Amino acid sequence: MNPQRTTSQCEMCGAVTATRRHLLGATEMLLGACCSKYGQPLDAPAKQGTAASRQQGLERRAQRMTSKDIYQEERLDLVADFGARVKHGRERKNIAYDMLGTKVQATVPQLHKIERGELRPSDKLAKALERELGITLMEKVEADAAAVGGVTKPSKAGLTIGDLLKDAMKKK
Ligand SMILES: [Zn+2]
Repeated sequence: MNPQRTTSQCEMCGAVTATRRHLLGATEMLLGACCSKYGQPLDAPAKQGTAASRQQGLERRAQRMTSKDIYQEERLDLVADFGARVKHGRERKNIAYDMLGTKVQATVPQLHKIERGELRPSDKLAKALERELGITLMEKVEADAAAVGGVTKPSKAGLTIGDLLKDAMKKK
């Protein structure tokens, strides 16, 4: 019905969902709401689409984080070693892949990929795995760290989303 809405595959986790173009570092990817947090939306309809306005938004959010008010965001993010945790959890519980897949609604190949760290489970799948295996996959992270967490290693202190965006624009 709505020609604006595109249903396709989230390039981060493979979920079939409504996706939008996002910028991850210098790379453009189609992300669903599931993984939107890992990138910067390129066509956010309600926001001014300039890098400057996005950076201002991030700075405002960073300021909010330092002042302890009700807007403080506590968010959960996938741990870096999620694959090893799933593997250990599954082995400890001695659950076969197909049995686990049935319980968490994932396919066996997906589970293999997750254990090898090649596929990031969606939030929903991560929660199901946590519940089924008695493990922790989602941990609280600082909002500003989460903006790059898991995708771009925060290798250099002082490298901000703004820098990444500038870098990405130079390459275009
Ligand atoms: Zn996704």
